[in-house]
Amino acid sequence: MLIDSHAHLEMPDFKKDLEAVIQRAKESGVEYIFTVGTEKKDWKRALEIANSDPSIYAILGVHPHNAKEIDDQTYLLLTGLCGDEKVKAYGEIGLDFFRNLSPPDIQLKRFREQIGLAKKLGLPIVVHDREAHRETVEILKSEKAEECGGIIHCFSGDYEMAKVCIDMGFNISIPGTITFKNAEGLREIVRKIPLESLLVETDAPFLTPEPFRGKRNEPGYVRYTAQRLAEIKKVSFEKVAEVTAENTLRVYRLNEHRHPNVRR
Ligand SMILES: [Zn+2]
Ligand SMILES: [Zn+2]
Repeated sequence: MLIDSHAHLEMPDFKKDLEAVIQRAKESGVEYIFTVGTEKKDWKRALEIANSDPSIYAILGVHPHNAKEIDDQTYLLLTGLCGDEKVKAYGEIGLDFFRNLSPPDIQLKRFREQIGLAKKLGLPIVVHDREAHRETVEILKSEKAEECGGIIHCFSGDYEMAKVCIDMGFNISIPGTITFKNAEGLREIVRKIPLESLLVETDAPFLTPEPFRGKRNEPGYVRYTAQRLAEIKKVSFEKVAEVTAENTLRVYRLNEHRHPNVRR
């Protein structure tokens, strides 16, 4: 079993051929896809897609790029939508100091608030961190994010950061960039992270792995990332598929019903 732990099926990139994209994912062995609605205009669509197919689940939250759009209605709306049984995590939330599409101080404030909301909703969080490793770890610690746990998606930190996050109960998700020629640094870090803490993702339509780099990414391509991970870990492809799938089912608590406000 393969799982794409993070994709964006509701984005306009998939408007024309979503059914074919999902079909191809199934044909390449992808059993579950988690689609992440990152801003208000995408949440309902993400839920609609999740509710149209038993193999698709949704993750909702406000991306750091959109942090500046949060108003007094936002969390109310999200709280309602996150009550749907098909929502399995809160995110992606975090910090993006590479593009700074929202001012950094607003990103920091909204990241803190959204960790609090996820805890209230009883959901694990999906964390986006780009060029903000130190601040991300600081906030995870000060907001006691170990109470909700979750995933550091598209991991780009160093081994020390991975270790701190794993010790807090987080999992590390690896995107297609690991297949890139110049990604030896990331491969070196991943070599040291136990397979039991790793997930694979596409982040489709972005970050397309080799041999399709440059084209639109889609969930079926998660197998190229898993394949490369198998080479790095010197285990079989089947083993990587099995263990990363187990990890994903565990972190998203796929077989549990949710009890808001109950600490696990
Ligand atoms: Zn992200
Ligand atoms: Zn994403």
